[in-house]
Amino acid sequence: MNNLTCDVLVVGAGPAGLSAAYSLAKAGKKVICIDKKEKIGEPVRCAEGIGSYLFNKLPFKIPKNLLEWRIDGLKFNYSDLTITRKGGQWAGFSINRTIFENWLLKKAVDNNATIWTNSSLSDLNFDSNFFVSGAKIKKGNKLLHVFPKVIVAADGVFSKTAELLKIPVFEEIVGDILVKEIKSNNLKNIRFEQIFIGDFSPSGYGFIFPKSNQIANIGVGSIFHTKNMDNYFSEFKEINSVSTQLKDFKILKDKSKTSAFGSRLKKWIYGNVFFVGDAANQNYKPFVEGFIPAIVCGNLLGDYISKNTFYSDLVYKNLIYSNLFGFDYSDSLKEEMLKVFKLDEKKQYPLLFSLSSGLFTPFEISRLIKKSPELIMKEILNKI
Ligand SMILES: Cc1cc2nc3c(=O)[nH]c(=O)nc-3n(C[C@H](O)[C@H](O)[C@H](O)COP(=O)(O)OP(=O)(O)OC[C@H]3O[C@@H](n4cnc5c(N)ncnc54)[C@H](O)[C@@H]3O)c2cc1C
Repeated sequence: MNNLTCDVLVVGAGPAGLSAAYSLAKAGKKVICIDKKEKIGEPVRCAEGIGSYLFNKLPFKIPKNLLEWRIDGLKFNYSDLTITRKGGQWAGFSINRTIFENWLLKKAVDNNATIWTNSSLSDLNFDSNFFVSGAKIKKGNKLLHVFPKVIVAADGVFSKTAELLKIPVFEEIVGDILVKEIKSNNLKNIRFEQIFIGDFSPSGYGFIFPKSNQIANIGVGSIFHTKNMDNYFSEFKEINSVSTQLKDFKILKDKSKTSAFGSRLKKWIYGNVFFVGDAANQNYKPFVEGFIPAIVCGNLLGDYISKNTFYSDLVYKNLIYSNLFGFDYSDSLKEEMLKVFKLDEKKQYPLLFSLSSGLFTPFEISRLIKKSPELIMKEILNKI
């Protein structure tokens, strides 16, 4: 067994882990970043839509060629109603995640971070206060023993690090998102992400995120689904405004996976282990938008670790909340959505439509929830 020491072991080389590795390596830390995948950024499990409102929080300027398709806003659809949101927090881009992550990887490597692919965290030595003294890593068919001062757990929604530390799950709420990259000659509103609310996506949504004139990531997401996601996808494709866009479409790739929605962990720091990205549920609700937030959080965490010797969960949380515009609003949105998901469809869908489109605030929804379906519709129509 090979023994190695480092300042920081980053578990997971997704956007959060790569960003933390880059930031820590730039500050002169000896970083080993591992990922169980064979290739960074592959396979893509994402709808690849990003907002541009956090770009000023990034430690670098994103090269123009990485921002593949400009998105001007979102169109929310429910029944025969549509709400269009444009600019500001609604505007962004569609990206190619593999290319983006490999670009980030190069930045980390250029700053002397060591990245190991095909390397999976398999065991941890730790004491009763979660202070980790060593980590076992399966690198191909070799077993390596790494002795880090600090661990950054950026290993996604079902964090292996949390599991090995036996941290109790605080709130187990995850969503399944079925995503297919498709080609169609009939896409409409190609500068807008389209969101659809209805019974084809109970406790969730259907979506079309364009990537070019003819290519889009499309699919359905759901938290408390009772049917297989493929069934919902079939129903989604049949709704009028979707079927016209998918006439003669071809599926190019599957990009589906589970995503974080409720916080699985109560804290973000346990002993000398720091959780970041989806492992800490640092994404924006309702659409679990977490790609740019993961990069911002990875960088903030890297900075926090390298500039301090004493760490506090509260300080780390404040750092994230003060930098991620609207993150506390996203939390209250999540709480209200969880209540709305429990309602029957006559109330659930109009309220989800209102919440996700920003027609009503979470506070206003907590008032509307008590009203009859007829009164809810009346208030929606008055406001549109
Ligand atoms: C289907 C889907 C669609 C989405 N669409 C969007 C979108 O359009 N826009 C957006 O902004 N966000 C989207 N998200 C959310 C976004 O993908 C996540 O928030 C983001 O990827 C979080 O980054 P991360 O680095 O924290 O985690 P991840 O991207 O999950 O990376 C975690 C990494 O850890 C590695 N890992 C796990 N266990 C181990 C182990 N034991 N040892 C070593 N490595 C390990 C994994 O291989 C992985 O590479 C979507 C999520 C899903 C599931």
